[in-house]
Amino acid sequence: MPIDFSVEPEFQEQLDWMREFVDAEAVPLDLAFGGEEGIYNKAHPLWAEVVRPLQEKVKKRGLWACHLGKDLGGLGYGQTKLALMNEILGRSGFASSLFGCQAPDSGNAEILAHYGTEAQKETYLEPLLNGEISSCYSMTEPQGGSDPNVFKCKATRDGDDWIIEGEKWFSSSLRWAKFAIVMVVSNPDVPIYQGASMFLVPTDTPGLEIIRNTGMAHEPPGHGGHAYVRYNKVRVPKENLLGGEGQAFKIAQTRLGGGRLHHAMRTVGAVRRLLDMMAERAASRTTKGSLLADKQGVQEMIGRTWLDLQQFRLLVLHAAWAVDQVGGSAARTEIAAVKVMTPQVYTDAAYRCMKLHGALGISNEMPIAGMWLGGAALGLADGPTEVHMTTIAKHVLKNVEPTTTGWPSEHLPERREAARARYADILERALANE
Ligand SMILES: Cc1cc2nc3c(=O)[nH]c(=O)nc-3n(C[C@H](O)[C@H](O)[C@H](O)COP(=O)(O)OP(=O)(O)OC[C@H]3O[C@@H](n4cnc5c(N)ncnc54)[C@H](O)[C@@H]3O)c2cc1C
Repeated sequence: MPIDFSVEPEFQEQLDWMREFVDAEAVPLDLAFGGEEGIYNKAHPLWAEVVRPLQEKVKKRGLWACHLGKDLGGLGYGQTKLALMNEILGRSGFASSLFGCQAPDSGNAEILAHYGTEAQKETYLEPLLNGEISSCYSMTEPQGGSDPNVFKCKATRDGDDWIIEGEKWFSSSLRWAKFAIVMVVSNPDVPIYQGASMFLVPTDTPGLEIIRNTGMAHEPPGHGGHAYVRYNKVRVPKENLLGGEGQAFKIAQTRLGGGRLHHAMRTVGAVRRLLDMMAERAASRTTKGSLLADKQGVQEMIGRTWLDLQQFRLLVLHAAWAVDQVGGSAARTEIAAVKVMTPQVYTDAAYRCMKLHGALGISNEMPIAGMWLGGAALGLADGPTEVHMTTIAKHVLKNVEPTTTGWPSEHLPERREAARARYADILERALANE
């Protein structure tokens, strides 16, 4: 079977165009309007004046919302091509918005495309795909996000409506969103994996109360895009139940597999940017009579980062290829592996890059410390590392036969004895000739 890493020349041309476009148009937006408000607040004047015309260019080039499959009106590029595209987008915070694949909107669009009614698609999906509105995915609760068994936010049926009651935590971009997709307990009498449902909740529905907007560590209190929200008997019609009662986890998988992979793909781009920064610094700074680049400790940091990047990139490309071959569900071990490695490779590279830049590296005059935190966030968003490590371990442990002798099957005395019995003749002759 051939192993071929090349891409068609036409697609390479698209990648080259993307690279130039991201550097020329997306990076300056990060610098002038950095932060989540610029990205998610579609009412910001920046959107009409700058972002939409840039999005039109992307659409004309045939590179808009490429994560959507052909069945959902997308281009059906597949995950392997998306991996190469997302590597480029990962160099800029704004780039995904210019290319119509910003999280959480990209995943929410997939949910609506699969499970929304025609009216919901017209009201929410079309403007979402056109980049006219933002959306939110509201699942994690204050008492624990990794374990759905502790979820309390519930929905109860009332005639033709459902009433949602409870709290959610870290509902990213809710403050700018037109709608949220909310995961709730709809049947507390069965295990959570059969008893949770998803609802489409327009954010202007009475009872939806943002308690506060939580920010990341470097943002001052009161600023930030991650809402702590209370749903105070929020009433939605039965059509807003997505995909049927008890289907929340099935729906979540539609969204999370791709999302995890895309974060990893963009991380490849971010780590390459960190490596570029490290190399430039090492080649530019002289200490104690020689360049940093000539010092063995620095070479170790640069070499290690290059190795991590190469290994990680291959892991991501292989996972993307596996999803294209067998689908996201069958490739869940590959996706879990990528999810585990994403924060590790990202934070290790960011730490080394910070270190090489000295005090400047940890200051607010370089993007590195922010990237470090971004890497740490990826160890939590879409589920913490440990949970995904468990998926990998379960895969390895599946179908493993325990030994029955009390000794490992690789225990040398038994194996040696069996091997010697097989060659007893030769061994005896050799002994006699000694
Ligand atoms: C930047 C960012 C954006 C986010 N956006 C959203 C969003 O839009 N919508 C949303 O619903 N949520 C969002 N989240 C929340 C995210 O999904 C949760 O942080 C995540 O699921 C972990 O839940 P938790 O924070 O409650 O941590 P906990 O569940 O309390 O876990 C804390 C730690 O405990 C350990 N741990 C947990 N479970 C296990 C286990 N099974 N085995 C071993 N160790 C374990 C891990 O070390 C873990 O990091 C976001 C988070 C971040 C950081």
